[in-house]
Amino acid sequence: MIFRRRPRVTGVVSASSENGNTHLSLAFLRTALNALPMGVIVVDDNGKEWWRNRAAHNQADAQTDGESIEKVLQQMGQSALRGRSDAQQVTVDGAPPRTLEVKALPMINGGAIIVMEDITEQFLTDKVRTDFVANISHELKTPVGALSVLAETIAAESEEEGGNPDLVPLARRMVLESHRVSHIIDDLLELASIEFRGSERYVVMGIVSLVNEAVARAQPRADRNGVNIKTEFVDSDISLRGDDRQLVSAISNLVENAVKYSEKGDTVIVRVTSDPENATIEVIDEGIGISAEHLDRVFERFYRVDQARSRDTGGTGLGLAIVRHVLNNHGGEVNVRSTEGEGSTFTLTIPKFLG
Ligand code: ADP
Repeated sequence: MIFRRRPRVTGVVSASSENGNTHLSLAFLRTALNALPMGVIVVDDNGKEWWRNRAAHNQADAQTDGESIEKVLQQMGQSALRGRSDAQQVTVDGAPPRTLEVKALPMINGGAIIVMEDITEQFLTDKVRTDFVANISHELKTPVGALSVLAETIAAESEEEGGNPDLVPLARRMVLESHRVSHIIDDLLELASIEFRGSERYVVMGIVSLVNEAVARAQPRADRNGVNIKTEFVDSDISLRGDDRQLVSAISNLVENAVKYSEKGDTVIVRVTSDPENATIEVIDEGIGISAEHLDRVFERFYRVDQARSRDTGGTGLGLAIVRHVLNNHGGEVNVRSTEGEGSTFTLTIPKFLG
């Protein structure tokens, strides 16, 4: 696309760059922002709306769950003014309902900016895909369960006197493979439910019990692999609000991975710290690590750095996708730092429940 030379604008306020070639007038900037399909609202550092573009004006009467959308925007703006970025999907009432992705971001010199994008079409496409995966997984669950029981029976009978010993390794392999498929189906169903139902069971929970439960889930694998898990509660007086099952699942996925990708004798540390707004849970291992080229992609579903190793350790390639969705549902984020051959640190940042 070729951009035409900007027409000369006689603006109200204008700023020039040092060499004097570029004039950026406020009027011109407003015209540009008004042409955007997404809503933009600028809030000053006292929380007062300073300006909104045309698309944001068009949304002003929208309602969500019978309440004005402005209330949600105000809350998000306040959160951004306190320095915390916020992102939410908001369903706008109507026939049909629409889905807006709303982001509120703090600005460097104070104030905040709120951006609203209509993602209805993308949301519906994602929903069709997720429903399809969930339905298929559901249909597969029963026959795969039956195959697994049949394979176990064949293996047991072949091991008995008079049985055919040649069948034993084949039947055992069938049992293993059917367990693998069941595991993938369970993860696909979990991912589908997390993606589209969001956080349904909102409860307030203490961070210590949450982390201990997640660690307990990974403990049997750690014992089998000879890996130590250490918990460090630098701050233990933290409450979170959200879906406890989802959060335990996210943390235990990270701890299980840390154990899976460690060597015998290694230690995995689960460290809990906090700042006034957020709780941080770090899962630190000294295992195989992840090289830079793979680091950005490990949160994609079915992405594995080493297919064979993941398969051998019973991995499905869905664990980190589940973690990312859980954190999205809770207004938090997951990040990773890693050095190949030295280990990885996965960090969960979750807003604290401040009562
Ligand atoms: P999987 O079930 O294969 O472990 P995940 O989605 O949990 O799938 O992780 C995706 C990929 O990221 C893994 O296959 C592995 O290659 C890599 N990975 C995840 N966690 C770690 C870790 N702690 N150390 C090294 N590699 C990891």
